[in-house]
Amino acid sequence: MPYRDDFGRAIHYLRVSVTDRCNLRCVYCMPGEGIEKQSHADILRYEELEQILRIAAELGINKVRLTGGEPLVRLGLVDFVRRVAAIPGIDDLSLTTNGTLLARHASALAEAGLQRVNISLDTLRPERFAQITRLGRLEDVWAGLEAARAAGLKPIKMNMVVVRGLNDDEVSDFARRTLSDGWHVRFIELMPIGANVEWAFSRVVPVAEIAARIEAEVGSLQPVHGPTGNGPARYYQLPGAAGTIGFIAALSDHFCSSCNRLRLTADGRLRPCLMSEEEIDLRGPLRAGASDQELKELLTRAIQRKPQRHHLDRTLGPQDRTMAQIGG
Ligand code: SAM
Ligand code: SF4
Repeated sequence: MPYRDDFGRAIHYLRVSVTDRCNLRCVYCMPGEGIEKQSHADILRYEELEQILRIAAELGINKVRLTGGEPLVRLGLVDFVRRVAAIPGIDDLSLTTNGTLLARHASALAEAGLQRVNISLDTLRPERFAQITRLGRLEDVWAGLEAARAAGLKPIKMNMVVVRGLNDDEVSDFARRTLSDGWHVRFIELMPIGANVEWAFSRVVPVAEIAARIEAEVGSLQPVHGPTGNGPARYYQLPGAAGTIGFIAALSDHFCSSCNRLRLTADGRLRPCLMSEEEIDLRGPLRAGASDQELKELLTRAIQRKPQRHHLDRTLGPQDRTMAQIGG
């Protein structure tokens, strides 16, 4: 049974950042020169992560998503996936990736027990992809997507962060992919988080505006269930589409009342809420020899510290860490 927090929410989902490093520098996520890297000693070792996940599973966490930074830049990820997949109680194991290294790893990941991938993709245009990611090539994402499909990692969700003046003119092109290619597309509101919160705040496109644009340019949106349940997204379908369209409105329609998750940063801090700077250190106690019971109490404390809701619509977001450091 999952553990419930003080507001009755069942917390059964842990997002784990396995690295703060990334091979891209998306303009809304990181400065061009990157962020100061944590040393290898700062980052949790795979054995430490495995111990935390085993304890979390005993507390009712059954769903784990590996993220980062870019999780596929960390060596040994496939073996780690194999070990996590074998933890009793964890029955939903997925990965969020920018897709650029997926062609190399998709089949091994699937064979190791990974079930699904979310690929972050903000544009369908090669030059714009290079501009947004500063370092990436769109063709690598296409190869990664194909490899994920061939490996049976499904459903694949394509996550697009919509940024005013940068890629908002492409939302209908993404929506059309649900018709032509059966994509599951999710539109994500830009969150003012990290180094450049004022910039981000001025670039947010509310999901209502994205939906209105799709309805005007492509077709009417019918509410449906999501491909893997609803979570924070609301799902729709265009008539005749095999794929779905999800909207994640972190700002305009906060979904805190159904929040079911905790986050673990690459350096071993539990973050009860993405939007709050509060963290609970697991790495220190873990390395000081804390017992499983003591670690379980820290996990329980993190669940109890989950706030009822965030107030990003009224105040700026956390500025202590970027999404790449927290694990978006
Ligand atoms: N590197 C991987 C990737 O890009 O999928 C995983 C980590 S990345 C931080 C996870 C997700 O967070 C990506 O979909 C990215 O677009 C999103 N993200 C990063 N900064 C964001 C922001 N300020 N607002 C909304 N989403 C953001
Ligand atoms: Fe890297 Fe993902 Fe951040 Fe882009 S969004 S810079 S791919 S961590």
